[in-house]
Amino acid sequence: MKNIILIAAPAAGKGTQAKLIEEKYGLIHISTGDLLRSEVSSNSELGIELDKIMKKGQLVNDEIVEDLLRKKINSSNSNGFVLEGYPRNLNQASRLDVILNEINKKIDYVIYLDVPFEVALKRSSGRLQCKYCGKIYNLNDEKLRPLKNGICNNCGKEIYQRNDDNEESFKIRFNTYLENTKPLIDYYKSKGLLKEVDSSKDCYTVFSSIENIIGK
Ligand code: ADP
Repeated sequence: MKNIILIAAPAAGKGTQAKLIEEKYGLIHISTGDLLRSEVSSNSELGIELDKIMKKGQLVNDEIVEDLLRKKINSSNSNGFVLEGYPRNLNQASRLDVILNEINKKIDYVIYLDVPFEVALKRSSGRLQCKYCGKIYNLNDEKLRPLKNGICNNCGKEIYQRNDDNEESFKIRFNTYLENTKPLIDYYKSKGLLKEVDSSKDCYTVFSSIENIIGK
C-alpha cells in the first residue's frame, strides 16, 4: 500500500501524472479539483457558490474541501491513494495529518512537480478534460491530443475547457499557489517525505522519474 501526494503549481501536470500513477500502481486517484467540479455540475446551491470562487481562481474554504475529501477517503477501500490538489495550504496539511491519523494511514511520498510559470501557463491554455471520466488532454502537446476532436479517447464522451483555464484566472491561481501552497514544500521536506521531479519535460519522461521514486 502506498499513499502519495502530488504538489505543484496549477496546470503543472498533477492530474495527468495522477492518472498514470493510478493506472500503473492501482492506487485510487483523489483530486479535490475534480470533487469540487463534480459538486458544481450537480447544480446544487453549494455548487453554484463554488463555481463563482473557482472561476476567479481563488481557494475554496478549507472546511468545504475537507468535508468532500473525508467522504472520498472514507469510501475508498483501496491499495492506497494518489492525492492531488490537497493540501493547498499549511492548515490543510495539518488537517490531513489528523484525517490520516484517524484512519491509521500515513503518507509515503510527497512528490513536488516543478515547472516554470511560462510552461504551466501554456499547458493551462491548451488543457481539455473529459466531463465523464476526468481524463486530461492537451492541445499544445502532440502526445496528449485527443484522437478525435472534442471526444474522449477512453469513454467517447465530450471533452471541454475548464472555465478557470484562461490567462486572467491562471495568473491569480499561480499567485495563490506561490503564497499558500509553496510553503508546503518546506513542511514536507522537514518531515523527510519530499521528492522533487522536473515536470517541464514531456509527460512520459516525468512519469518515468516518478516510477524511479515509487519503484518500477
Ligand atoms: P489545477 O490543477 O489547475 O491547480 P485543480 O483542479 O487542482 O486545478 O483546482 C481547481 C480549483 O479548485 C482551484 O483553483 C480552487 O479554486 C479549487 N480547489 C481545488 N482544491 C482545493 C483545495 N484543496 N482547497 C481550496 N480550493 C481548492
